[in-house]
Order: sequence, then C-alpha cells, then structure tokens
Amino acid sequence: MTIPVELILICLSPIFFIFIGWEWLHSVRQNQPRYQWQDSLANLCLAAMHQAGDAVSLLLLLPVFYWVSQHALWQIEFSWTALAALFLLQDFLYYWFHRASHRIRWLWASHVVHHSSRLMNFSTAFRQSLTYPISGMWLFWLPLVWVGFDVRLVLAVVAINLAFQFFVHTQHGRYWGWFGFVFNTPAVHRVHHACNAEYIDRNFAGVLVIWDRLFGTYQAEQAPCRFGITDDFSSNNPLTITFYEWRKMVWLWPRLPSAGQRLKLLFGAPECFAEQSAQFIAHLHAKQHPSTSSPSNQSFGDGQVPDKMSSSTLQQPLTEQSTESVAKNPTWLK
Ligand SMILES: [Zn+2]
Ligand SMILES: [Zn+2]
Repeated sequence: MTIPVELILICLSPIFFIFIGWEWLHSVRQNQPRYQWQDSLANLCLAAMHQAGDAVSLLLLLPVFYWVSQHALWQIEFSWTALAALFLLQDFLYYWFHRASHRIRWLWASHVVHHSSRLMNFSTAFRQSLTYPISGMWLFWLPLVWVGFDVRLVLAVVAINLAFQFFVHTQHGRYWGWFGFVFNTPAVHRVHHACNAEYIDRNFAGVLVIWDRLFGTYQAEQAPCRFGITDDFSSNNPLTITFYEWRKMVWLWPRLPSAGQRLKLLFGAPECFAEQSAQFIAHLHAKQHPSTSSPSNQSFGDGQVPDKMSSSTLQQPLTEQSTESVAKNPTWLK
C-alpha cells in the first residue's frame, strides 16, 4: 500500500478545524481576546502556502530520498518495533532540527514565520513557512532513510509528528502529571512561543519533551507568556510574514564588509548583527511612514559597519508596554 503522505495533514484538517471552532467559541463566551480574524486568516493562508510548497518540493526531493534509500546501510522491514524506533528517532531529529532553527539564521528565516504572531491559539499551528525546503528541513530526515527506513514511512512519520504538535498550540491546559513529564504539552509549548527573557530558546520538543530534559533546554511555565518574537514585528500579510527574515538578510548582505561576516549572516545566530537588524526594521518603518522616520533610520554607507555593535533593544524581549504598543499598532509592517 502506498502511503499518501502529501494528504495526511489535509485529511486530518477537519479535526483541526473542530478544535479551532471550539476554542474560538470558548474564547468568545469567556470574553478572552485569543483570536483575531486577520491573524487566523493569515495563519490559514500560510498553511495553504506551506502545503503547496511542500507538494512541489516533494516532487523535486523524492528522487534524492530514493537515491539515498538505494545506498542505505540496511533495508528495515516493517514491524511495530521498527515503527516505534522510527517515531523515536524522527522525534529526536526533530528536536535538533528545531533547535538548529533557532540558532542558525538560514533556518530561522523560515521558522520565524511560526513564531511571528502575538497570539497563541490552535490556528497558530497553521502558521508555517513556504521556504522550509530552501532552509533544508528535509536534510534532517535523510539519516532515517540512510539507515534503511522506507522513504514514504519516514515522510508519514514526519507528518504525524507535525499533526501531534497542532494540539499543543493553545492557552488551555497546565502541567499534566506524568504525561507532561514525557510528552510535549500546551504548557511546554507556550514557553517555546514566548519572548520573555527566561523563555527564549527553550522547549524545542516535537512529541517527546524528554529531549529538552536530557539536553538542558527544558523550562517550566512560570511567569505569564508574552507571545511573539523579540523583533518589533507584527503583520497579517502572509507574504510579509514569509519573507521578513529573508528580506532582512538581503538588506544586510551588501552592508557587511567581509566574506566572513556574510557567512556569519547566513549561518550565525539570528541575534548576530543586532544593531544592523534594528536599522533594517527602522528602514522598513520609514518606508511605510516616511513622515515619522526616526533618527535611527541611517544606512551604514559604503558597506561600513560600526566597529562596536551595541546590543539592540529590538533583540531584547519586549516589555509589557512595548508588547501593548505592538498590539495596539499592529499594522505598520503590513
Ligand atoms: Zn520554534
Ligand atoms: Zn509552535
């Protein structure tokens, strides 16, 4: 039997929409501002773009997967034990993919899309990037094929892992005893989506939170979460959201003086070149609102970069006040 891996998430979408409908209705009844229709619509568009991008890239990448499969170390026959081992290994690799996505800008350029909303609800799970194939997410699954797991089974497990993660995108649910010790839960994943200083780069779990506990990235939910990224960014335009970090990289590239710095721009941490990134944001802001252009909107000129890079306030977690101001003025980057 051929597994229709392209359709797994689409087939599950009625269940996702039931959960979104329930959560939305609950938030309306409780008068909680958990949903904004512009944000949810953007999430839906981003999910559709992501699915379309994955379908196209699968056409291109399947031959690569099958080529690796032909040179696999072993041929692992299907059994329930093998399937359990595949789930475990794929989730382990997901942890490292996710951790790398927060520490390497080339990967963060895609993953930032998922983190760019100031809201947290089930529809946030739909907020995915079209550009994951360019960032190379698929590379993380190749070792599974190389050791001998069936290509389509690997891709099916990847999709099921993502489907599980839909259910952790909610503000409902607290610590769930032994389940929360072993599995990713809403409380664990809320911390991951928060930009509070103590929550940054924590809880990279896909299905199992044991990887965070093992590798020292686990953080329990204590203070209330402020959702979103530390950049002063807010948009409901799917294209703006998708290409925000890529545009930042393109803008920074000619302004960096050496090949080494440009390499660092691509593969260094996302917080590198914080001051220049802040100037990019000011540049975008100035384009949108020329009359209110701030003094910080200065180009480096002739590719020069200040010798000393002071840390940018925009790479610091937003204060309560600034979060509030973004929430009140969420349209300047549309
Ligand atoms: Zn993340
Ligand atoms: Zn998430």
